[in-house]
This record gives sequence, C-alpha cells and structure tokens, in this order.
Amino acid sequence: MSYLQQSKKEIASLAPAITAISRRIFENPELNFKEQFAASQLVAALKAEGFKTRCGKGKLSTAFEATWSGSRKNPTIAILAEYDALPNIGHACGHNMIAAAAFGAAVAVKRMLGEKCGTLKVIGTPGEEGGGGKLYMIGDGWFKGVDAAIMVHPANHNRTIARMLAVMELEFKYYGKASHAAAHPELGINALDAVITLFNSVNAMRQQTPNFSRVHGVITHGGDAPNIIPEFASARFFVRGITMKDFHAVLGKVTDCAKAAAKATGCTLKIVKNRMNYEPFEPNRTMGQRFAGHIALLGAKDSGIPENEDIGSSDIGNLSQVVPSLHPEFAVSEPHIVNHSREFLKAVVSPKGEAAMMRAATALTATVCDLFTDASFVPAVRKEFEKFKKGK
Ligand SMILES: [Zn+2]
Ligand SMILES: [Zn+2]
Repeated sequence: MSYLQQSKKEIASLAPAITAISRRIFENPELNFKEQFAASQLVAALKAEGFKTRCGKGKLSTAFEATWSGSRKNPTIAILAEYDALPNIGHACGHNMIAAAAFGAAVAVKRMLGEKCGTLKVIGTPGEEGGGGKLYMIGDGWFKGVDAAIMVHPANHNRTIARMLAVMELEFKYYGKASHAAAHPELGINALDAVITLFNSVNAMRQQTPNFSRVHGVITHGGDAPNIIPEFASARFFVRGITMKDFHAVLGKVTDCAKAAAKATGCTLKIVKNRMNYEPFEPNRTMGQRFAGHIALLGAKDSGIPENEDIGSSDIGNLSQVVPSLHPEFAVSEPHIVNHSREFLKAVVSPKGEAAMMRAATALTATVCDLFTDASFVPAVRKEFEKFKKGK
C-alpha cells in the first residue's frame, strides 16, 4: 500500500477525533495570543497520543510544540497549527480546521511510521490574525533545526502554490496650527490638508508601482470641528509588495509622498512604523509538487488561480525566509464565498468543508511521510531553498 493509501485509512479512522477538535475550537473562538482553550485541547490530545509537549511563556503562553522522536536523527519536520479567531466573527478564517488537520496528520504519521520518523513536531503558532505570532517564535528559536514546515489553510479554492505579500503598517501624523477657520484662517496650518495631499499623491503614484504591489489607507483623525483649522490629522496605511525589493521601493515612494505633503502644507510629520513587518511568503515548490500530486489523487482539483493573484499577507512569510515552508489552501466553500465572511464561517463546520479538511489532512500526512522516508526529498527541498536565498 502506498503512503497515500495508508494516510487515507489512518485519517479516516481519526476523522471523528479530528472533527471533534475542529468543532470544539470553532465553538470557543479566542483572539490572537488568548487561545488558551484551543492550545490546551491540542496539547492534551497530542500528549495522549504519545507526543512530548512543551508550552510557551509570557506573550507566547498559547504557543506549544508536541514532539515525536523516532529512532532516526534526521530530518525534523514541523506541521504548523494556527488556532486564533477573528474579532466579532469567530472562526471565519477556519483556523479551527488548520489545528484539527495538523493534529490528525501528526497522529497519522506517528502511527504509520513510528520509529522510522526523524523528529516530528506539531508547532502551535498563536496570533496569526494581525498578531505576528510566528515572528516572535522565530525570534525565540522555536524553528531552530526544523528542515521543513508545512500547514494547510481553508479557502474558497484549491491551490497548493501561492505567494503572499510583504506588508508593513505605518501611521502618518501631521501637526499644524489651530486657528479660527472664518476669522483668521491665514494664521492656521491645516493638518487635514496634509493628509488629503498624501492620499492624492499616493493615488497619483499608484500606476508607477511594481506589479502586485498594494497601498491602502484610512484617515484616523481629520480634525475636530469645521470652524477650527485642524491642528492634528493622521492616517494609517498598509504598504505591500510581492518581494522585499518591491516592498521597499513602494515604501520609499509612499514615505516621499508623506514628506512632500508636510512640506506643501507647512505641517510637521511624524512617521510611526509598526515593528511587525511581514516578509513575502515564498512557497517551497519541491514540497508543493509532492503535496499537489497527493491531493489531486484524492480528487481535489486545483483551481488554477495564478500564484500571484488573490493573495494577502501572513506571518508564515517570515518563516518561509528562514525554513522551507508550504501553505496549501483547500476549498471548503464556493468560489464567491471568501475568508473572513459570515458565509465562510458556516463553511468551516459544514459537511462539505469537513470532507475537504480530511483530504487536506490526508495529503499532509502523505507528504510528511515522504519527507521522512524518501531520502532524496528533503535534500531537494533544501537545495531549492538555498537557491532562493542566494537569488535574493
Ligand atoms: Zn485570516
Ligand atoms: Zn487564516
């Protein structure tokens, strides 16, 4: 029997446990870095299966790792579990499924390979939704020695290989001078004019930005009353690029626009950069081809959406810059129903969605088995990764 066939059998036998975990986490949505319930469920379930577990501390108190060490020293393969929910709308990104699939795949791999494993880890990564949990975890050394990291994410399409955008959040604060807007406007310095000039400049330069770049902002303060010349106004922007080079090019242009707006209006400018800078996600294609082959055999047809389209940003971007990583998407909803919507929320506990989760968990299991048993696979994954690092 092939590993894929064996994986199918193991995941089928684990299906009730996988579904139960997915639904329990779904019913107890927790915001980023507050995922106590989800993390404790996963830790307990993996401990019961013979994994050695360790939990994080402080900011990362909802991070964990569960390790199974076979008799082989190498390689170390990490299956990633996310489990944070969104404000107000619960698990509308379906991270309950990511966690449940990670649990199922890890247990299945352990049951199938046992001592034939190197080091198999489930790494629980909290705070993906805007929290940058993986950035803290990279900093704290959780991924040291990991040869490859892999996870699966629910979506409205099947796609194994997709890139993600680098992103940074910035705030532009303009300081002017208040004055009576009717009696003595000439004595004022209008900070709102600076913000409006910034938006107009950014809109004018959009056409000259590299392909796939994104710049989008909101005005966070526009003044206090129409009869006062605004002495303070501010805006928050996201700047995104498909490579760090593109990202820095756009960031430079937006920063120039912001400075020019200050100069044009006589305001002073303070730029606050969020220290969370997500890097672009670079999928490991060697791993991707293997996963794609498995999931196709299970009947999940690839949507054919190009790798640079229909993409956002994630903290796995930073991980993919230090460890070969893969983040396949599996369809739990129709194409018109997108993540972070009320309709998607229903899809992540629907029978159709759960069937797709089992397929994804099966392909994940088979891919991890290949990583442990196919002697040429991890070296090929590493070779691609090193080539990518050199080319950067
Ligand atoms: Zn999301
Ligand atoms: Zn997500």
